[in-house]
Amino acid sequence: MSTSTAPHSAFVDFKEVKSRVGILQVLERYDLLGSLKRAADRLSGPCPLHKGTNPTQFRVSVSRNCFNCFGTCGRGGNVIDFVSLREGISFRDAALLLQEWFMPDKVTNRPVGTALRQTTDASPRPSSQPLQPPPTVADDPDEEGENPPLSFALKALKPDHPYLNERGLTEATIASYGIGYCARGCLRGHVAIPIRNRAGAVTGYIGRWPGEPPSGQGKYKLPKGFRKSLEVFNIDRAVNADASAPLLVVEGVFDCLHLVQLGFPATVAILGSSLSSRQELLIREAAGAGRPVHLLFDADEAGRRGASEAASRLCRSSIVRIIDIGGYHPQPELLERTQVEALLKPF
Ligand SMILES: [Zn+2]
Repeated sequence: MSTSTAPHSAFVDFKEVKSRVGILQVLERYDLLGSLKRAADRLSGPCPLHKGTNPTQFRVSVSRNCFNCFGTCGRGGNVIDFVSLREGISFRDAALLLQEWFMPDKVTNRPVGTALRQTTDASPRPSSQPLQPPPTVADDPDEEGENPPLSFALKALKPDHPYLNERGLTEATIASYGIGYCARGCLRGHVAIPIRNRAGAVTGYIGRWPGEPPSGQGKYKLPKGFRKSLEVFNIDRAVNADASAPLLVVEGVFDCLHLVQLGFPATVAILGSSLSSRQELLIREAAGAGRPVHLLFDADEAGRRGASEAASRLCRSSIVRIIDIGGYHPQPELLERTQVEALLKPF
């Protein structure tokens, strides 16, 4: 794929959409407010995205203008993410749709009748008066500060759980990274992967259910209070790798560990598809002067969008390349060494 980000035909200010459109307006637009219980700033109810029945799995924070599903689909995000998931359309199209619904001043250039697509939903269009003024959203609080080093360590993680082999991890990797199955403690029943800060101190764990989780339960679990958006997995090792090699950035820990095993030690994972400002800073520092940054995100809508947004920010300080892995596999975890080499080859 091309260097940096591709220009779009029409500019959409995602930040403006996120700050002007309130999550309550969006939920009302889908006629979902009736199914949610409200307590102060929080709403909870069954998840409308995976059509769950558990009455508390889907949670909304009004002041932070975001939602999270703690059940099967495990999705979460802002108003644009919600519409994108609900409609099955791209992030960008969702933002355009929100503009059309709630920001009439932004769509005056577009002739009436060029709606992106008719929604399948028969609920009424929003009135011109919004339900309530959208909350003003400053920076995401999840992106501020640092996770302190953990005051505890998960004891007796079992390194020989078959799931770790299923994910292709070698014994050496498992031992070196201190990964194992957690039989008790806060991540009981999960495979725990320690997350270390730049200095190598453990600040948290990613808990992965070994296989398909029981219905109603998410694949991942984190220790209470741990904010993964503040961490870049493997940054402590990647900074010590050969500085002439590009810094490879992937989404998940298993993608990262796989590429390290293939012989690319300068690989880090941002533990999701969207780059936080803290992660941006950490990657910038790790790249230093002159080290190119290559983004190998998943070949899906979230990955493409995440890579494009990350590139547009990182390119201010580094040479950034978005590497489209979709010609081989949907995830870096599945790539063979020769495929990675072909993808990283200069033009
Ligand atoms: Zn859900």
